[in-house]
Amino acid sequence: MSATSFASSADLGEKQQTLEVLADGVYALTAEGDPNIGAIEGEDFLVCFEALATPTAAREWLTKLREHTDKPVRYLVLSHYHAVRVLGASAYDAEVIVAHENTAALITERGKQDWESEFGRMPRLAKDPDSVPGLTWPTLSFADRLTIDLGGNRGELVLEFHGRGHTEGDIVAWLPQQKILFAGDLVEAEAALYTGDAFHRDWSTTTLDGLAALQAETLIGGRGAVSHGRAEVDAAIAQTRHFLSVMLGEVGAVQQRGGTLKQAFEATHAALYERYGHWPIFEHCLPFDVSRVWDELSGVERPVIWTADRDRAVWDQLQG
Ligand SMILES: [Zn+2]
Repeated sequence: MSATSFASSADLGEKQQTLEVLADGVYALTAEGDPNIGAIEGEDFLVCFEALATPTAAREWLTKLREHTDKPVRYLVLSHYHAVRVLGASAYDAEVIVAHENTAALITERGKQDWESEFGRMPRLAKDPDSVPGLTWPTLSFADRLTIDLGGNRGELVLEFHGRGHTEGDIVAWLPQQKILFAGDLVEAEAALYTGDAFHRDWSTTTLDGLAALQAETLIGGRGAVSHGRAEVDAAIAQTRHFLSVMLGEVGAVQQRGGTLKQAFEATHAALYERYGHWPIFEHCLPFDVSRVWDELSGVERPVIWTADRDRAVWDQLQG
């Protein structure tokens, strides 16, 4: 694919989806770098993690999941507000839709613009876009931690906020008994990071420190394969941290010598390319990533809202 095709607009080949049973009643669906999702069985209910981009896409996942369990979905957990993670929610018929309180506020503030932006960037994920009935509204939100008792001897599922990161309101789902962590987009495993709505300094330090301290033995990141075992889990977290640190270092250096955004993009691209250039969505993400790093280091506290028009303008300036 040419780097000059806007975002992932030319990436239209189907990805192979793989459902993995990680432990008794714990499921992950990965898709060769497309967004991952998960499900956790309670004694008489299901918790689903992430909703995909449209109800049609979500129903295909639920059909696979229904080969393993027919329990009703009590909780649908949204790790953050991004459209390709939340707009399939109506397919689940969930009793409760859970998110961080900042995610609920972000959907109100910028959900509509994000929907248009993401469906333009990633048309393949927006399968049957007319099946989306509207924005997804969480019905239960929290600030720090929410524990769901799974019943029987299944232990508990802990939903936690570890600080600002990929967005202002990412949460992870942690199974302390099985040591399995659903990390959402806070960790990617051999897939490029999207950081256009991120807080790079918090994410690369305290937020990832919080995730690493859980000492997970299995990790499901936002994209890429499941990380099995402590070595792979640590490698995924270290890769995420390194990607962020390189961007901060390169953009910061260009700013300090009075350079331009375009120069910052070129320097960052050069620094990351050899190690990460072949990973999914690298070329797609980098203009948006560098734009946000630039803003963050310039003192713009909260990410500027991405719109379909702003996406094209930044793309043309940096990748054009
Ligand atoms: Zn995201």
